[in-house]
Amino acid sequence: MNKSETHIIGAGLSGLSAAVALTASGYKATLYESSPQAGGRCRSFWDHELNSIIDNGNHLILGSNKSVFAYLKVIGNESGLIGQSNVRIPFIDLRTGKRWAIRPNYGKIPWWIFSDSRRVPNSSWFNYLSILKLMFASNSTTVKECLGGNTIMSEMLWEPLTKAVLNTEMHLASAKLLWPVIKIAFGNGAKGSQPFFAREGLSSALIDPAIDFITKNNGSIKYGCRLKDIEFNNKKAISLNFGEYSVDVGKKNQIIIAVPPHIASQLLPDILYPSETRSILNAHFRPQHPIKIPGKSKFLGIVGGTADWVFLRDRVLSVTVSAADELIDEKNELLAKSLWKDLCTALSIQNSPLPPFKIVKEKRATFAQTAGSTKSRPNAKTPWKNVILAGDWTNTGLPATIEGSVKSGLTAAIRARRKM
Ligand SMILES: Cc1cc2nc3c(=O)[nH]c(=O)nc-3n(C[C@H](O)[C@H](O)[C@H](O)COP(=O)(O)OP(=O)(O)OC[C@H]3O[C@@H](n4cnc5c(N)ncnc54)[C@H](O)[C@@H]3O)c2cc1C
Repeated sequence: MNKSETHIIGAGLSGLSAAVALTASGYKATLYESSPQAGGRCRSFWDHELNSIIDNGNHLILGSNKSVFAYLKVIGNESGLIGQSNVRIPFIDLRTGKRWAIRPNYGKIPWWIFSDSRRVPNSSWFNYLSILKLMFASNSTTVKECLGGNTIMSEMLWEPLTKAVLNTEMHLASAKLLWPVIKIAFGNGAKGSQPFFAREGLSSALIDPAIDFITKNNGSIKYGCRLKDIEFNNKKAISLNFGEYSVDVGKKNQIIIAVPPHIASQLLPDILYPSETRSILNAHFRPQHPIKIPGKSKFLGIVGGTADWVFLRDRVLSVTVSAADELIDEKNELLAKSLWKDLCTALSIQNSPLPPFKIVKEKRATFAQTAGSTKSRPNAKTPWKNVILAGDWTNTGLPATIEGSVKSGLTAAIRARRKM
């Protein structure tokens, strides 16, 4: 057991991933979390109105998200996620009622693009080759500049996919950030693009088992501890001020700052950070009678309405609207009515009054992953010798996702270990 300790600020997935990696290799880690619950932007809670556990937002993980599956293995909860067995991404266009599904094949050679029944209606295999343009995109290239050449493909596939992955509109979104996801998702065939979801909830899948693991392995977590400021001396952090008390940072100890970018920028003067953000809106409905998504799917992409995606878990239908900044200040009742109307059309629900609902608004869901935003993502290394950065917004080379968060925590832990 190494006697040095790492103080980790923020118990979202990035902070938890760092703590798991450190404690798994015999190092002491203490997490400080400002809220009463861990998980940050990836958490569950009990909702009385819906009589159910719901997540702050629908989260989809891909079969190719290697860091996430490695993290689950370490914390002993590989069964926390459930994969959809038939690999298909189903869609409906609300304006025409047309339904289709993208169905990648197993194996490395993507022959599915040559099959009419596996791709967007009225598209040609040729349209799919444009994704190769993403590979050569510069920092300032938008997704639209690479993939916007065909209107049908843009509306029916690229725009919904870009919004889902980057939480940013296609005409602004970074092509460079979309590429790593497209590459691993479609480059590995159906296995890579297999959708996974939290079996019972995000907290029981990804958060609670991590806390169990950390506390059983010489780590600890303190809730309700908001780091207010850091005292620096001679290019080192020497004290962490939590208001009611402060923590002296021992000589060999390390600090990992794993908080959202706007908070990190207040704690660490002059750091680089992406300041623009995008919202995500989620509406959870509990219809009176169980409702199924056609094709035994757990989710459905919606084109031509306000809703982007609907997910089904047990009795609860959950709608996601990404890059939802224009809607986020609308009244909940109005949002629920409009999204329920979309659902009734998408799922062919006849004459159904608005069921009990819960609206969850994440105003700063992710940083705006626009072309050029990659330049404002900092590395884990900071100008202070014992301070390391983690977070989905740091320079992971990946979009702001669970995979990116887990990877950033691991990178920070490796750096901390090297210094202790
Ligand atoms: C609605 C929604 C849907 C999403 N969908 C997907 C998806 O489908 N797939 C996917 O891969 N990703 C998705 N994401 C992204 C994913 O949730 C995030 O990338 C990830 O949760 C970020 O984790 P993090 O630890 O970097 O940051 P956070 O989760 O923000 O964690 C930071 C933690 O720091 C704490 N904190 C803040 N300030 C302080 C302080 N001063 N002192 C102590 N603690 C502090 C916060 O309370 C928080 O717990 C979604 C996000 C949202 C919001």
